[in-house]
Amino acid sequence: MASVWLTGLALVLAGPVPALLARARWTRSVPRAAIVLWQSVAIAAVLAAVGSALAAPEALLRAFFHPEERTGLALAVAVGVAAVLAGLIVARLVVVLVLLAVRTRVRRARHRDMIDLLARAEEVDAGGSLRAGTVLRVLDGAVPFAYCVPGRVGSEGRVVVTGAALQTLCPKELRAVIAHEQAHLAARHDLVREGFTALHRAFPVIVRSREARDAVALLLEMLADDAGRRRVGDDAMAGALDAFASSDRAGYGPDVVERLERIRSCVHGGRALAVGTYLAAVALVVVPTITIVIPWLTDALPTVGVR
Ligand SMILES: [Zn+2]
Repeated sequence: MASVWLTGLALVLAGPVPALLARARWTRSVPRAAIVLWQSVAIAAVLAAVGSALAAPEALLRAFFHPEERTGLALAVAVGVAAVLAGLIVARLVVVLVLLAVRTRVRRARHRDMIDLLARAEEVDAGGSLRAGTVLRVLDGAVPFAYCVPGRVGSEGRVVVTGAALQTLCPKELRAVIAHEQAHLAARHDLVREGFTALHRAFPVIVRSREARDAVALLLEMLADDAGRRRVGDDAMAGALDAFASSDRAGYGPDVVERLERIRSCVHGGRALAVGTYLAAVALVVVPTITIVIPWLTDALPTVGVR
């Protein structure tokens, strides 16, 4: 029975739950807690899939063999199949994650070298907003935009702005943009994003959805916006976003519209909602472990001679 519950849980956490959570509006007011909830959904889905792979052969053994027959070859086959199925899930995840991490770091190192080579020589007055461990680089470019490139462990990340951004933004807006990009670098938002991209690629196509990855990407942007708002205020952060969107060919995409709306309506998360979200995140992992996995292990381990 545990395998049925765990399979059902894995499917629900891979499909309907991300779909509902991606549409929820309340997550906008507590982006940090909402990202933790998304991470918890992902961890619980993977654990449920691994648990279901481990429990299914044991369930078949129980269904087709009398208790006295559940030994020897039948037991060895069940244990072997369980180990292979669970191992395949974990191995696929690990391989996808390692490949993604290596490729991302190689590409990023090249990107950093390119930025350092092409950046303008002159210093930009960032209004004292640049923290230690970050380098500001200005690239020539007619389109105002900014982004960041994380550094290697222990080395400096790059905040990149174009010359057009310097001309378009007022000093306060520039500080808001720098605070936004520095928040990405300081909290290693790239690692959170990488985890969800790996999970997206590792999941079978049939249950794979972009909702989790895209929703978390937007929440990370909101979290970085909050850093800009705290540093220089709502108006400067909204002004910078507005300036970038209005001069970009892509214009006001749905994510930018949502971020602007959120800043202008002064959405700030309530403590109670954040605490409730963190508790839900913990419960998602703990409750299935207590109600399904531990009873199953208590029942199944004696079958394989573990007491
Ligand atoms: Zn950003």
